[in-house]
Amino acid sequence: MAELTDGGPAAHHSYPCEQCGANVEFAAGTGTLTCPYCGHAQDVTPVGEAVREHDFAALAARQRPAPPATQEYRCGTCGAITTSDHLSQKCGFCGSPMVAEVEALGLVEPEAVLPFGVDRASMQGALQKWVRSRWFAPSALKKVVSAEQAHGVYLPHWTFDAQTRSDYTGQRGEHYWVTETYTTTDSEGRSQTQTRQVQKTRWYPASGTVARAFDDVLVAGTRRVMPEHLAKLSPWPLEQAASYQPDYLAGYETLRYDVEPEAGLDVAKQEMAPVIENDCERDIGGDVQRVHHVATSYSEVTYKLLLLPVWIATYLYGGKPFQVLVNARTAEVVGQRPWSAWKITFAVLAALVLVGAIVWAVVASQDGGTASGVYSGLSLLGDPVARESVDLYAGSRG
Ligand SMILES: [Zn+2]
Ligand SMILES: [Zn+2]
Repeated sequence: MAELTDGGPAAHHSYPCEQCGANVEFAAGTGTLTCPYCGHAQDVTPVGEAVREHDFAALAARQRPAPPATQEYRCGTCGAITTSDHLSQKCGFCGSPMVAEVEALGLVEPEAVLPFGVDRASMQGALQKWVRSRWFAPSALKKVVSAEQAHGVYLPHWTFDAQTRSDYTGQRGEHYWVTETYTTTDSEGRSQTQTRQVQKTRWYPASGTVARAFDDVLVAGTRRVMPEHLAKLSPWPLEQAASYQPDYLAGYETLRYDVEPEAGLDVAKQEMAPVIENDCERDIGGDVQRVHHVATSYSEVTYKLLLLPVWIATYLYGGKPFQVLVNARTAEVVGQRPWSAWKITFAVLAALVLVGAIVWAVVASQDGGTASGVYSGLSLLGDPVARESVDLYAGSRG
């Protein structure tokens, strides 16, 4: 099935079709490699091993030579040579899928992959729905839907598991009520003494220890896609991840990680911090809490490198590139969107014309002495602010 091209700097897998000599690609959502020309389908080579996490301390202690910045692929179909820093891609000349032999590059090997589940047609459907629900989007955004250039890309992510133990200090606040007296002046100018209940808080020192086990804290392993956009693609059905198998990458681009695992763990700890702080607050108890200091120790830290499938469509608007991402498992769409200046201007003008028409109607009817009818019409709009401003306007006319 998949053939490993050996020798030279470019050991990689290629995917000739068993039936017609073209190439098979991983077909989203099917679990098979399918030939786009003759339709021949062959099953992905099964991997017997289960997805597992690896000891982080052992990785950190290991010397990891810097991998080559790029590698050469020699296309098994047309013989063309492509230089690239991707782990998989299509040949730039004939479109044949090429998947790197990761081990040969000295990179941390992916442990798991969530194979593409949303195919190109379904991705376009999801984009169409998304574009239709954008207000004031320029027509250029509609072009993103027909985006033939949308890429199917596997993005590297780290997941971390850890046992944590945190010593904290802080304060526990307990509410109590006091009766306060105050004076008011009534309508006839007499001063009156009254009482009211006021809530106060008494603070007590607090300290203690909390423990929590974290599982699969997800951290982006690439800086090429904005992390805030990636975060919005969550949640991912991580339990459906399969053991890494190059076949799943055939026909797609796969980015190398450019966030080293050590840096990834730092980000994971930042993700854990608010959860731990929450545990501290619950441990402190009382009505309100202050956490002043938390010292956390991490043990049994394990990691895995995971590839997640994303459709990436880019379009130009006003000379600037905008990016839209589609989660290729859940079809969730996250994107940058420009605002159409003329559509907003038009909407504002239309609103002003409407307000003007209402004001004119009110003024005209008051001149005619039938204000009540107009007020009932206005209250139908259910907007007391509009009504107030109309009153002012009418009043200022004297
Ligand atoms: Zn074929
Ligand atoms: Zn080629």
